[in-house]
Amino acid sequence: QVIYLNGEFVTKENAKVSVYDHGFLYGDGIFEGIRIYNGNIFKCKEHLNRLYDSAKSIMLDIPLSYEEMEAALVETIQRNDMQDGYIRLVVSRGPGNLGLDPKRCPSAWVIIIVEQLAIYPEEAYKNGLISVSVSQRRNIPDALNPKIKSLNYLNNILVKIQANLAGVGEAIMLNSQGYVAEGSSDNIFIIKNDVVYTPPCYVGALEGITRAAIMELCDKLGYTLKEIPFTLHDVYVADEVFFTGTAAEVIAVREVDGRTIGTGKAGPITTHLLEEFRKLVDIDGVQ
Ligand code: PLP
Repeated sequence: QVIYLNGEFVTKENAKVSVYDHGFLYGDGIFEGIRIYNGNIFKCKEHLNRLYDSAKSIMLDIPLSYEEMEAALVETIQRNDMQDGYIRLVVSRGPGNLGLDPKRCPSAWVIIIVEQLAIYPEEAYKNGLISVSVSQRRNIPDALNPKIKSLNYLNNILVKIQANLAGVGEAIMLNSQGYVAEGSSDNIFIIKNDVVYTPPCYVGALEGITRAAIMELCDKLGYTLKEIPFTLHDVYVADEVFFTGTAAEVIAVREVDGRTIGTGKAGPITTHLLEEFRKLVDIDGVQ
């Protein structure tokens, strides 16, 4: 395995960052998680758009042009001979001094890691996950805008810790107003009376690439989709609930906080959307 580190390819053992790196010291940086299907980078343009938008928002100069970044991703995949896997693209503010001033960091660091992916077993896609809501709240735009995919993931990690304590794979996070926001690293959808609902991003959700793909699929397949805020009550009484994310794809939820969702397994619309999503991954990508 080789890792892209600022234009060079180094072994895993030699892929190291400075203790003065502001990504490490302050979480000052951004990242993307991207899938490789059959050697193709799925939704490459969308991921790079989100990366460059996040960078612009936090005034981080990415030292590679969009085209150079795409070429770096392709080369990293090729050098690792990866057909199906996961790309972690990280841009940190780079090494500086102990002060938090980004002016002290002369150049950003770009890191690309490709790896095999440990995803949910296929059984989970049919039977659905058990999930819980947690007390940790999603910060909404008065703090860091959730559209920025920054290296500040402590909030999400606290959700993951609560999920672990409850013995579940993914948990549901509300925002400070009590609206359902998202999971620790997945967006959420519910279905009621054949209408598909997902929270708008202003409620406190990342603008997920998989979320966008599912919204497009709903349109294509003729399902009514409503992007409106909803509460835990709506989740409990939904016919179907599912999470979406680059790693998880489209995964059904069969139980939330002890309430059985619908029939207690992946529902028909969720299953249909997963099937159509998996068709999409074969045709939509950069080689
Ligand atoms: N929400 C959060 C907080 C995430 O970290 C992720 C993963 O990237 C998602 C949602 C799902 O987004 P995507 O479909 O782009 O992977």
